[in-house]
Amino acid sequence: MSDIEAMIARRNRLLGPAYRLFYDAPLHLVKGEGVWLIDADGGRYLDTYNNVPHIGHSHPAVVAAVQSQIADLNIHTRYLHDTILDYAEKLLATFEPALDTAHFCCSGTEANELALRLARDATGNQGVIVTECAYHGHSQAIYEISTRDVGARGLPDYAIAVPAPDLLRGPHRGADALAHYLDHIAKAAETLNQRGYGVAAMIVDTIQSSGGTVVPPMGYYRQAAEIIRQAGGLFIADEVQAGFGRAGTDFWVYQGHDVVPDFVTLGKPMGNGMPLAGCIAQRAHVEGFARSHKYFNTFAGIPVSCAAGLAVLNVLEQENLQANALDVGNHLKAGVAKLAEEHDAIGDIRGSGFFIGLDLVTDRKTMNPATALTKSLIEAMKERHVLSGAIGPDMNILKIRPPMVFTRDHADLLLETLGASLRAL
Ligand code: PMP
Repeated sequence: MSDIEAMIARRNRLLGPAYRLFYDAPLHLVKGEGVWLIDADGGRYLDTYNNVPHIGHSHPAVVAAVQSQIADLNIHTRYLHDTILDYAEKLLATFEPALDTAHFCCSGTEANELALRLARDATGNQGVIVTECAYHGHSQAIYEISTRDVGARGLPDYAIAVPAPDLLRGPHRGADALAHYLDHIAKAAETLNQRGYGVAAMIVDTIQSSGGTVVPPMGYYRQAAEIIRQAGGLFIADEVQAGFGRAGTDFWVYQGHDVVPDFVTLGKPMGNGMPLAGCIAQRAHVEGFARSHKYFNTFAGIPVSCAAGLAVLNVLEQENLQANALDVGNHLKAGVAKLAEEHDAIGDIRGSGFFIGLDLVTDRKTMNPATALTKSLIEAMKERHVLSGAIGPDMNILKIRPPMVFTRDHADLLLETLGASLRAL
């Protein structure tokens, strides 16, 4: 038995059987450095898809901030502490003035759970509208409405799924597609009223990742929010994946869509790997809740996590990483477009900055998803020491979602490896 086989057997014995590993031959990683992951044999892999190490694996600024804070004090949010307030202030400054109130959480799931709870309290309604094939988290309340995972069980009666506004594969694709997608929302709101739940919220993943990196047509989010508010509900923008400058164009993706959400939920990249997440709210929506409830979450927003979060915001600013994402993202998209001249399997390239999806197809005429090819491509790239993953309802979208410190040289290595792997398959 090899070391890796022994480790897999040990893991299978110790951990729940629902855990999954990436790759046919799983990686045993021991170190991370910027955009590089290093395995137990010293092999270096280019990381082109992990979005949690936002400013790079083991960034020295995060390491120093965490070490210094944990050496001094780590306590919860029931005491006064400068780091918590300094972080909240810097974070809130990235939002419109109306989004003026922060709550800290430990995961994206918790942030969405809290947003939903606050929206239900503020509106007095229970109903939820979600997009199809969305993932918002794993707690009971959020898992129940995560359409990617509901399967045959279906959604609970209080929730309705509307089609993701996907102009390539969705049910509406032409010039009037936007109106049709909005109509689904209006009808869902009406149905929730008829069922007696009313509308508490609509929640959207702003670049619909598990839906297949769906970038909605301009106007969708703004008008969706208007429909929801008219129906008495609130609009929740889930920026857990897309936020913190990743898309290159705006710090928060909703900002490019001319809408100010009622709640914005944050997670993954927020603490560069420290368990830090957030639910940002317009104050008017949470004042009623505070009169009858208290919010306490033991590990959420502790000084050590806030120190990491502060380091992330500082480095994003100092190293101009949002602009880097846009520049290198455009370079990547141009490179993939060039590869597409040679490879019929590249059906579409979408997204922006460091949130790019490569839609792989059996051929461009039918645009049928090339699920098997995508899996083989990911394995072939891994053999060449470039790590990527698949997403989408048919798992045929290659995720390009690297740490924000990814340079043009790294992009060229990714393009070279992608080309060589496609040619070899
Ligand atoms: N929302 C979105 C859009 C996500 O992608 C995820 C995680 N994949 C979550 C929420 C849940 O975050 P967490 O795993 O931190 O609970």
